[in-house]
Amino acid sequence: MIKVAKFGGSSVANAEQFRKVKAIIEADSSRRFVVSSACGKESNEDHKVTDLLYLCEAHVRFGVSYEPIFEQIEKKYRRIRDELNLKLDLEKEFAAIRKVMKRGMSTDYLVSRGEYLTSKLLAEYLGFDFADAADVIAFRYDGEVDMAKTEKLIESRIQDRGLVIPGFYGALPNGVIRVMSRGGSDITGAIVANVVGADIYENWTDVSGFLVADPRIVKKPLAIPCINYNELREMSYMGANVLHDDAIFPVKKKNIPINVRNTNEPENPGTLIMADCSEADAVNPPHFITGITGRKDFTVITLIKMHASAEVGFLRRILSIFEEYHVSIESVPSTVDTFSVIVASKQVEHCLYDIVGRLKEEIRPDDLRIEDHLALIAVVGRAMKDQPGMSGRLLSEFGSNEINIKVINQSCDELSIVVGVHNRDFEKAINCIYERFIAEEKEN
Ligand code: ASP
Repeated sequence: MIKVAKFGGSSVANAEQFRKVKAIIEADSSRRFVVSSACGKESNEDHKVTDLLYLCEAHVRFGVSYEPIFEQIEKKYRRIRDELNLKLDLEKEFAAIRKVMKRGMSTDYLVSRGEYLTSKLLAEYLGFDFADAADVIAFRYDGEVDMAKTEKLIESRIQDRGLVIPGFYGALPNGVIRVMSRGGSDITGAIVANVVGADIYENWTDVSGFLVADPRIVKKPLAIPCINYNELREMSYMGANVLHDDAIFPVKKKNIPINVRNTNEPENPGTLIMADCSEADAVNPPHFITGITGRKDFTVITLIKMHASAEVGFLRRILSIFEEYHVSIESVPSTVDTFSVIVASKQVEHCLYDIVGRLKEEIRPDDLRIEDHLALIAVVGRAMKDQPGMSGRLLSEFGSNEINIKVINQSCDELSIVVGVHNRDFEKAINCIYERFIAEEKEN
C-alpha cells in the first residue's frame, strides 16, 4: 500500500502543526510520499508565506525595500526550526535567496521558496529524504507536466526512507523554476500520486472533507463521506473550494481515490473522492443529493426573434459575438424563439453594451432584455439518476417557499439540476433544499 500525503498551508503553519503532521505520518507506514505547501496563516491576522513572497517580489520590482517583509518570513521559519530543534541552516538558505534577489530573480523562483523551505524543514523533522521539486517535477516548455520524465525523476530519488517534495512548482527543461496556479500544491500531490502509482492520495487540510453545503450559508451542514469525480467537478465549478480544480485530472487517469482529511481532526475519515462510489454506496446508501452549491451574480441576456428556431446557425451567430469579447458562457436556456445567454456578470462588466450593440446589429432581434442579480444553485447527486419525481420534489420546494425560479437546467446524465433564482433568494433556497432533502431525510 502506498499513500501520498499532501499537507496544505494551515497544516504546516507553525511548530505545533508540524507535530500533528509527524503524528499522522508515523501512524501509518504506507504514508511514504509527502507533498507540502508553504506555511499558511497561524491566525486570521497572520499572512500566508506565499502571499508575503509575492509582496516581496512587488517591492523588488518597484525598487522599494523588501527587507521588513522578508525578515518576517525568515523569523517564521527560524521559529519553527528552533522550536522543533532542527538543524537546517536557514541562515545560509536565506542568504542564498537574498543573493539571487539582488542579482535579479524571476517571480516564480521567489514565490516557490515558501514550499522549498517548508519541505526542507519537514523532511528533516520526519526523517525523510528531501527532493527539490525543481529536480523532480518536469514541465515542458508548453507549461504541461511531462509525466513520463517526472516519473523517472521521482523513481530515481526513492530510497528506503520516505520522500518529501515541495508542492506548487517544478522546472522547465532548461532548469528554470515554474510555479503552478495558486493552490497548486494539490496538483503536485496528484502528480506524485499518479507517477508513484499510489493506492490513495490523501489531501490534508483544515476541514474534514467536503460539506454538503457551504457552512456560511447552512448551519453545521453534514460532511460528504463519498463523492465521485464528476460530482466533485460540478461542485467545485459552482463554488465549493476545498481542492484545486486541476488536482483531479492526474489521479483520475489512474483511478486513484482522493481522501480529503483534517490535520486537526485526524480521526475523522473525511471525504473520499472516487471514480465510482458504488461499493461504498452498497454499504452506506447515499442521499439523493450529494451536495448543494452555487454562485451569485450572473447576467441573463435574452433575445426574442420570431421563427429564429428555423434559422440555421442562429445560435452560433449569437454565441460567436460573446466569443469575440472572450466571454465564457454559463448556459443557454432556450424555448422556441427565445434564447437566453447566461454569463457571470463580472465577465461582461466592461463590454455588456458593446455586446448588446453587436447583437442588435447582427441578429436583429424583435426584443432584447437584460436581467442581472441572478444566482445559480447546483443540486448535485449521483443518486438522483433515474429517480422519477426528484426534480418535481425539488421544484415544489421552491414553490412552497415562495422562491421564484427563473431558470432550470438539467443535463441528460442527471448528475445535477441547476436552478436560477434572484440573488436575494440564494441563501434561503439553499437552506430550504438542505432542510428538505438532507436534514429531514436524516431524521427519518
Ligand atoms: N503556497 C501556494 C499558494 O498559496 C500553493 C499552495 O499552497 O498550494 O497558492
